[in-house]
Formats: sequence, structure tokens, C-alpha cells
Amino acid sequence: MHNVLLIEDNPGDARLIREMIAEDPRAPFTVHFADRLAKGLEHLSAGETALVILDLSLPDSFGLDTFTKVYTHAPAVPIIVLTGNDDDALALSAVKGGAQDYLVKSRLDRELLLRSMHYSIERKRYQVQLEHQANYDALTGLPNRNLLHDRLRQTVYSQRNPRNIAVVFMDLDHFKFVNDSLGHSTGDKLLKAMGDRLRSVLREGDTVGRVGGDEFVLILNDQSNEEVIFRAMQRITAKVAEPIMLDGKELYVTCSAGISLYPQDGRDVDTLLKNADAAMYRAKEHGRSNFQFYTSEMNERVNDRLALEHALRRALERKEFMLHYQQKVDLRTGSIIGAEALVRWSHPEWGLVRPARFIPIAEETGLIVQLGEWVIHEAARQTRDWLDAGLKPGVVSVNLSARQFRADGLVLAVSRILQETGLDPAQLEVELTESMVMHNVEAAIATLQGLKSLGISLSVDDFGTGYSSLSYLKDLPIDALKIDRSFVRDIRSGSEAEDGILAQAIISLGHALHLKVIAEGVETDAQLHFLKRHGCDQVQGFLYGEPVPPEQFAQLLERAKRRGKRA
Ligand code: C2E
Ligand code: MG
Ligand code: MG
Repeated sequence: MHNVLLIEDNPGDARLIREMIAEDPRAPFTVHFADRLAKGLEHLSAGETALVILDLSLPDSFGLDTFTKVYTHAPAVPIIVLTGNDDDALALSAVKGGAQDYLVKSRLDRELLLRSMHYSIERKRYQVQLEHQANYDALTGLPNRNLLHDRLRQTVYSQRNPRNIAVVFMDLDHFKFVNDSLGHSTGDKLLKAMGDRLRSVLREGDTVGRVGGDEFVLILNDQSNEEVIFRAMQRITAKVAEPIMLDGKELYVTCSAGISLYPQDGRDVDTLLKNADAAMYRAKEHGRSNFQFYTSEMNERVNDRLALEHALRRALERKEFMLHYQQKVDLRTGSIIGAEALVRWSHPEWGLVRPARFIPIAEETGLIVQLGEWVIHEAARQTRDWLDAGLKPGVVSVNLSARQFRADGLVLAVSRILQETGLDPAQLEVELTESMVMHNVEAAIATLQGLKSLGISLSVDDFGTGYSSLSYLKDLPIDALKIDRSFVRDIRSGSEAEDGILAQAIISLGHALHLKVIAEGVETDAQLHFLKRHGCDQVQGFLYGEPVPPEQFAQLLERAKRRGKRA
């Protein structure tokens, strides 16, 4: 049974047509009716219409416009246009525009109508099939070169703000071997399976197509930076490389891929494809099973990045990490009341790698959880050692990263570390950032309470740079706010009235919430005096001392101890 939608405002014409269709018991049509274009379009949205019979002059739309609206609304549904006597020109335009047929109302009879209906449905079915054949690869059902071209052109031209598009040319390694040794039917199954895999790893809005034998092209949108593309490529190539069972055999297939980026590697479709292809050949030359970017700087950056990731994975076992300690000073007494432990990575060849360079990578790879635990353990052990040696390191703080904070078992791990090292929890503090807490407040509060219940203190690092909801802030079980360096930097010689106004505001806010306030990045006397004047509790910064290795920090503590004895 076909659902036919009749869009016709004249009740007489509508009745006539319905009767003609209903008269024939063999006619496989159910007629639905709309007397306005708007109603018709609404009906079409349900998606069950097999054919539209459309009067072009309606109360809410007129002429060719009526046809165009219906056609763009449901391009896959055949349309028969109804016109008045002298509207042949209009009717022909509709047919040229994609209508299957037209009928003149006054010359309508049952035979003609039914024939036109059958004919239109068949004709449209055939057209759709042709279109599909012209645009899709029969084996995998993926877009073919034709459609990929169109899609890529559309994506490139619809870029309002120039975000990166990545065009990936991908080729299965040793496909010919599979084909020759296992037979074409296995080869076909492999291509189909790879097509499905590629489709399944892509995000909505991305496209994968097959452009030849074992060649696929991927269009990835919104690739804002190389990091994102890099991750996507790792995900995609890993998916391809998963073992696959075909005809009772387990196969391991890898791929080589080349990537070009819009706009820097080409501003038009052909150039982008050509360059991605060239990069793919380089990947083959590199021994297959890898991907290459078109531009060499991109490759260098990515290779550096890979090397760093690789080295980072080994750094823990090789004991390449250490902690430096930066003193925190009480503003009233001027004495050391604690330290922040800051991780350092010294690589045997590259020397010191800055945390800003490797912490984000550790985050993304998940290594941060292990590394973070090591940091807490090492800081706790060291503090305990100093205490055993009769020194007074005060409260030692460690930084937590977002992923570490969200990971299961953080509270348990900290509790275990306290037990193992025998450190008094009152000597330990963790620093977290606002965004970590505000990301999922309820879960965060639970974790914070867990940490708090161990007896350690909590402070919010880089305060004022993330987004904080003040109403949550007062419910958090925290002990201190750490004014971000940038606000301390704003405190100059006090020439401008606004200088330091934010630092001052954070001090007031912190005190109103009964929190301690500490300023980081204090470098000048002017900053120090300003902070003192406004009642800040503690400071940390190059003015007092840079982060130093543990032996050197121990010397600071020794000196403080001797001074204390003398006093
Ligand atoms: P942060 O927690 O805000 O650490 C303070 C940073 O400011 C440190 O940089 C420190 O060396 C620097 N600094 C201290 N005094 C001054 C000063 O007077 N002026 C200036 N300009 N800078 C000063 P560092 O050690 O490079 O650490 C950078 C960031 O890396 C840290 O920011 C923290 O977010 C992260 N980080 C460091 N160690 C760890 C760690 O063990 N775990 C985690 N998750 N992150 C860490
Ligand atoms: Mg910190
Ligand atoms: Mg900070």
C-alpha cells in the first residue's frame, strides 16, 4: 500500500481525485489530504509518503515556489504537479526542476491519473537508484570519489570561520597479498569490514569514502589543532589494526595514511586530495603502518610529540622524575611555613623538561594517575624524612591534575600513602584548580570530603583564572585560596588605582569565607608590601626563592632552625 499525499485547497477537485483513486479496488493507494502547503509539509515530515500530488496554487503558496518547497523538503519523494488549463509553461518548469509528471486539472480522468501515479513512483525509484550508484561504492556502501568530492567541496566552502579540516588518504598495507592468497571474495569482505570500522570510529559529521581498490578517504571536521588530529588518527589506525576473523582465519591488517589540512595545505579540493595522497606515499616509504602529514613541520612536531610520549612512559621506571620544593612564607612572621612540591623531569638526553610540556601529555595518556601517585608518595616520604631529621618543613603541598582528581581510588591511594610513609596528615596539602572542582560539583565534593576526612588540607590553585561558582565555593570543604600569579603580576608600583585590585578582592573573598589566602608568583617588594597591607596570609615566589632540589631545601630548613635557636 502506498501512502499518497494530496495537497489541494479546492474541496471539489480534492473530492474528485480521491474518488478516482478510491474507485479502483486494485489501486494500492491510501490518500492523505492537506488543504494548505504548511499542513502538507508537516505531513511529509513523518516520512511515510510514497507520492505527492500537488496543486501549485494554494492559499499559503503559489506557483513554482510551491513545488520547490515540497521538493527541497522531501527530495526523495516523487511529485505530480496539478495545474490549471493555461499553465503548461509552469508545469514544464516543475518537471525540469525535478517533478515526475504533471496533470492538467480540467483534463483529468481516472485512467490518466492512476497511470501517472504508478509511473511517477517507478520513475523516481529508478532515479534514486541511479543517483545512489553514481555516488556510492557498491561493495562497501560508502560514498565514492564523486560524492566525497562534493562533500569536501561543501565542507570547504561552508567554512565560515576557518577551522581546520583534515583530509586523510588511507591505504591498507599488503592488501594485494590478502587478495591474491585468500581470494577475491575474502578481499571483498575485508574491504567491507574496514569500511564499517572506519565509519564506526568517525564522529558525526565526518565522512569516509572508498576511492579505489583498497583506498579510503576520510574528511575530518573541526580539527582545531594537531593534537586533536593526532588523537583521531591514533584512534582510527588502532581500529583498523584490530585483528579480524574472515572465513575462519584471523588477519592482522594495518594501514598507511597521509594527511593534508585545510587551509594550510591547500584551499581547494583537488590540492587537498593530491597532497594527502603524496603524504600517504611517504607513509608507505616509512615502512607502512604509520601516518604522515603533508607538511614537514607538522611531521616534526608530531614526531617530537610521539618521542616525548614514548619517553614519558619509561620515565617512571627509569626514575627520571624528581621533586623540587618552593618555600611558602608566613607574611606576619616571615618564616617558612611550608613548601609546594613541583615535579621535574630530567631526561638523560634532553635535560630538564618543563611540567607545562609533559603534564598535559601525561594527562591525555592517563600516565598522570601513576605519576601523580608517585608525586604524592615522594612528597610524603621526603617530608617524613625531614621531620625525622628534626627539621620543620611545615605543610607540604602537591598538585593534582584533573584526570587524577576524577580517577577512582584517589582517596584510597592518599590514605595508603599516609600509612606507608607514616606522615601526619596535618603536614600534607593538595592543590586543585577551580575547573576541576566545578566540572562536576557533586562528585568533586564527595572526593574533597574523602580527602578531608583523611586529615589533609585542600587549597584551590590558580584561583581567579578558571570559572568558579561563588555559591558552590562556600560549600566546598577547602582551607585555602591561592591567588593566581597573573593577579600578583598586576600589582606594580601602585601607580594605577586598579593595580592589584583583583588580588585585593580575592583576599577579601577568601577571608569572608574563612579561608586562608596565599599569593603565588611574588617577585617584587612592591607586590609583597601590597599583599601584606591587604592582609594576605602567605606568599610564595621568586622573591623568597625558586623551587629547589630537596638537599637545598633541607639547607634552608637547617638555617631556619639555627636562626630559631638563636632567637
Ligand atoms: P602551579 O601549581 O601554579 O605552580 C607554580 C608555578 O609557578 C611553578 O612552575 C613555579 O616554578 C612557578 N613560580 C613560582 N614562583 C614564581 C614566581 O615568582 N614567578 C613566576 N613567574 N613563576 C613562579 P612549574 O614548576 O613550572 O609548574 C608549572 C605548573 O605545572 C604548576 O603550576 C602545576 O600546575 C603543574 N605541576 C607542577 N608539578 C606538578 C605535579 O606534581 N602534578 C601536577 N598535576 N601538576 C604539576
Ligand atoms: Mg600549584
Ligand atoms: Mg598556581
